[in-house]
Amino acid sequence: MDHQSPASYQTAVETAWPVGLGTGPGRILLLGPPGVGKGTQAREMERLWGIPHISTGDVLRSKVTQGTSLGRLAQGIMKRGELVPDSLVCEIVATRLQEPDTFCGCIFDGFPRTLGQAVWLEGRLAELGPGSSIIAVGIRMAHKHLLRRITGRRTCPMCQTVYNVYFNPPKREGLCDIDGAALVQRTDDSEQVFEERMRAYEMLSAPVVGHYRALGRFVSVNGDRPIGEIAAEIASTVARLRQ
Ligand code: AMP
Repeated sequence: MDHQSPASYQTAVETAWPVGLGTGPGRILLLGPPGVGKGTQAREMERLWGIPHISTGDVLRSKVTQGTSLGRLAQGIMKRGELVPDSLVCEIVATRLQEPDTFCGCIFDGFPRTLGQAVWLEGRLAELGPGSSIIAVGIRMAHKHLLRRITGRRTCPMCQTVYNVYFNPPKREGLCDIDGAALVQRTDDSEQVFEERMRAYEMLSAPVVGHYRALGRFVSVNGDRPIGEIAAEIASTVARLRQ
């Protein structure tokens, strides 16, 4: 359902982004419940504008796979669908923001998730100088659609292509179309863990949304549409707020 040709998608975003693709949108925060498509939008924006996608969930999963001390600490918490302590995720982000590819802009995905993280990030960005403020984009979707997106999600461990057994199945069941690898389901993509993550999201995101709304830097877009339409709306609303 979410598919659109790259050419028409590019055109839609270019039209929506009046200052030109080379300029970039600065620092963007994508907010939304698990499965709403934040990662997809972030990767597309990364491709279009060449600014990095910072996903604390991805960093934590790679720490778990590498078996680092942080990964061992986070593993149980993530399996239960709970939140990793602010101090750990802030440390991950602080390290990432020292890398030069983030200086002109980046897309935060899954961070900040709590008011404490949001306040910490504002302070950290203020130290980096003027013009580094965040625009928060909330992506919204009905609960029943989110549940199918999450429980149907399968990923190729080789090329990271993401499928969905309901909306976007592979040609051969359980196997990646590109390299034939056996697809895997994230351990936290079960219905039970999804409901726990939704509860945590709803409880904790309200103050984060309120924080950016009070600063006049929050916009909300409907996520139940083709990828390109959502991206074009994000581009135009961010451009408007940056003027
Ligand atoms: P995600 O891939 O963003 O859905 O994150 C997967 C899991 O990583 C979450 O359910 C949390 O356990 C943990 N996590 C990721 N980002 C954060 C964050 N900003 N604060 C706390 N926990 C996080």
